[in-house]
Formats: sequence, C-alpha cells, structure tokens
Amino acid sequence: MVTAAALCALPPRQAVRLVQAELEAAGCPDADFDARELYRLATGRDSRLDDSLSAEEGQKLAELTARRAGREPLQYLAGSWDFLDFTLRVGPGVLCPRADSEVVCETAIELLQGKPAPEVLDLCAGTGCLGLGIKRFVPGARVRCLEMSEEAWPYLTENAAHALPSGTVEPVRGDVKTFWQQIPEGSLDLIISNPPYLTAEEMAHRMPETAREPEMALDGGEDGLDFYRCILRHYRRALVPGGALVLEIGCAQARDVLGLAAGEGWQNTACRKDYGGNDRVILAYRGKEE
Ligand code: GLN
Repeated sequence: MVTAAALCALPPRQAVRLVQAELEAAGCPDADFDARELYRLATGRDSRLDDSLSAEEGQKLAELTARRAGREPLQYLAGSWDFLDFTLRVGPGVLCPRADSEVVCETAIELLQGKPAPEVLDLCAGTGCLGLGIKRFVPGARVRCLEMSEEAWPYLTENAAHALPSGTVEPVRGDVKTFWQQIPEGSLDLIISNPPYLTAEEMAHRMPETAREPEMALDGGEDGLDFYRCILRHYRRALVPGGALVLEIGCAQARDVLGLAAGEGWQNTACRKDYGGNDRVILAYRGKEE
C-alpha cells in the first residue's frame, strides 16, 4: 500500500511510478495514464514539473491511489471528464462519457448540417454528452435530453446548465419505454441515443469499474437488445418524414440492430465504425414518403 510519507520522499516522476506500480498490481488497465492523472488531481500540477509533493498533497495522492486500486472509475475520482471539446460533470450514479460515443455524436452533427433550427431528442441521456455535443456544434438546434434515473438527473441538469459556454439543452425526466406517447407525430428532425446495451452475459462479467456504474445505464436485457426493440418500434413516427435516428451499439450488435430496424420499416439503414475500428453507430431514417 502506497503511503503519503513514501510519496513525499520522492521526486514527482518517481512518485508517479510508485502509484503506477500499485495500480498495476491491482489490475488497472491504463496504470501509467491513471497514475499521471491522479498526480494532477492531487496536486493541480503536471508530474513532469519538479516541485515535490507537500504533506497534504502526498496524503491526497495516497488516498486517490487506494481508491483507484479499489477500481473506482478514474472519471468518478476526477468528478469531471472531457467529451469532444467540452467538460462534463460525472460521478457515481451516472454512466461515464466514453470516447467510443464521440463518433455517435459526430455522426448526428454531420447529418444536421444545413438545418438552421433542428428539433433533437437524446434518449437515455445520462450526463447529456450526446445532446450537449449536438448543441455545441449545431447551436441553432433545440435539444431535449430524456433521462429517467434519479441518480443521473443531477448530473444532467448541472451539465445542461454549465457544460457549454453558450446555449443549453432541456433536460426532461421520463422513461424511454413510454415517452414516445407524448411526442407529436412528425415533430423531430433527429433522435440520438446511447441506450443500455450489455447482454446478461456481459453484465455478469463486467470490469470492476463498469460494475460501479449504474446497472440501469448498461443492462439491455438477456440479449442486450431490449432498448433497440423499444426505440425502433415506437419512435419512428415522432420524426419528420426523412428524419434520422442515430444509435450507439455494442461492437457485436450491428447485424441484429440493422435487422430489427428493417423489420420495423426504417429506411436507408447503415452502420459506422468508431476510431477503434469497431462497429459503433447505426443510422436509420423515416421514409421521405411515409
Ligand atoms: N460502452 C459501454 C460499455 O461497454 C456500454 C454502454 C451502454 O450500455 N450504453 O461498458
């Protein structure tokens, strides 16, 4: 166990190596990156600077190291995390924004180019990263972010109020399974969602960090597809003819989700990969003539 005294006796770079070794021993996947991040959190400084740790900073770093070695997500320890070019509040009770989701947001932003004031709905919004990302790059958009969880709600409302320098999104408390009943037909230009999509098998074998994230944000039912079935069945009529649906998927779900979309009558469906080369985004449209 790394102690404050041991950390304070070392130059910063070696203190970081000691933290890294502790995190590696605990099985943390990116121990090098995490060690440098924890140093920055504890001191407010970069570990490449020579200033040695104060007793208080050493104490803070020892505590953060113990918590990370206990596999608390780094994002929760940091309390905030970057998504695209802005920063979101994050913590226990809400799904951490992930780099995988950036391409989902970028796809929607691309589709909205040339539309001055599109109406957008983000389903299962969590921190609001997808909806806020759209608002950030399509400032004329009117974006509503639906979230059901009481624990996630404070993060969404705070991010809606503060994450962007200008403009905001409207948080809406509600359940994706019934919210479609309240949307007038043909009133939305785009729906985006990163719904829960882990299978029962994946839920049972989550990484320790993911096991600290809310089940409600991850559990997609036995085959991981429950929310896709719901969204694909009930939300097409909410879109204007020609309107788009942009869904994040798990990397092995493209075929199933494309099949469900076709079965429900969606048009021009397509799949896009993330920057890791994994299938990540499903695109589907309401027919122009429908
Ligand atoms: N991408 C997340 C994971 O693999 C899952 C997010 C989700 O279910 N929407 O842990």
